[in-house]
Amino acid sequence: MPGEFQIIREHFQREAGVDDLVLGIGDDGAVLRPRPGFDQVVVTDTLVEGRHFPAGFPPEDIGWRALAVNLSDIAAMGAVPRFAFLNLTLRGPDDTWLHRFAGGFFELAARAGVALAGGDTTEGPLSVTVTVIGEVITGGAVRRDGARPGDLVCISGRPGEAAAGLEILQSNGSGDVLIRRFRRPEPRLQLGGKLPGLASAAIDVSDGLLADLDHVMTASGTGAKLELASLPVSDALRDHAGEHAADYVLAGGDDYELCFCVPAGQRDTVAALAEQPVTIIGEVVAGTGVEVIAPDGRPYVSGRRGFEHFRGMQA
Ligand code: ADP
Ligand code: MG
Repeated sequence: MPGEFQIIREHFQREAGVDDLVLGIGDDGAVLRPRPGFDQVVVTDTLVEGRHFPAGFPPEDIGWRALAVNLSDIAAMGAVPRFAFLNLTLRGPDDTWLHRFAGGFFELAARAGVALAGGDTTEGPLSVTVTVIGEVITGGAVRRDGARPGDLVCISGRPGEAAAGLEILQSNGSGDVLIRRFRRPEPRLQLGGKLPGLASAAIDVSDGLLADLDHVMTASGTGAKLELASLPVSDALRDHAGEHAADYVLAGGDDYELCFCVPAGQRDTVAALAEQPVTIIGEVVAGTGVEVIAPDGRPYVSGRRGFEHFRGMQA
């Protein structure tokens, strides 16, 4: 049976080949050399089996996801990811499981240009904590507290699809597009890199669009009005959710799309953001909270609520 050090050597110690990583895996600590002209952004997130992914979830998807959720936070700050740290708690040294886990993790790391610079390996109930360090031009980080009345509210991609995918998984159904959106969230790194100097505020949507946008509004001391008719609803989501599709968009969770605000004069710049669809769904207003307006002008109340730990899921 492989021990801790063998696991690290065989599965996680890889050549990084970047010159701002002075010393990587294998010593008591990593040595990073920050580049002049940049601020560092540090994010960390934990995935617990049975809570963030179902027991028996494919290990390559756990590896991908554990990194993806952190890269999504980096993107939401307008930063570019550089280094990752991986804290793994494992029930046992299962080589096949580790091989598959590392496969998913490094597939995304390679795509994102992230070097694994260290971590920790312990025994216990399965849980994965990843920390990512990114960089952003000095003073350029996009925060939650910069939204101003009149700004446009934007969302990337197709929120709601991941929640539909999870539902399909839980009922043992099939539906490749939606399930993949849950299993392999695509952090919006290219878009995130364009936010400094453009967005007044941003957040990544992990708990549901309404809940996460509300965090931005609270931090900014503003409110938001969204138009129900403007919400992006994909064909796949409409096929799954029918008349409830908008509720998935508003409160689905696990989307890892970017929700951001831009000054109204930047409408054309938003339209030109080409990597993935970006939809303008409403505007920032004076006041508090997030209101959704139906086509008849009346407030729309979503049938779902976002996810919050210690409160449980309400679908
Ligand atoms: P120490 O006992 O000094 O804390 P460890 O034995 O925990 O050191 O780790 C040895 C080296 O392996 C360190 O460089 C650490 O960052 C790295 N490491 C441990 N576990 C992991 C992991 N799961 N992924 C990446 N690096 C790891
Ligand atoms: Mg240690």
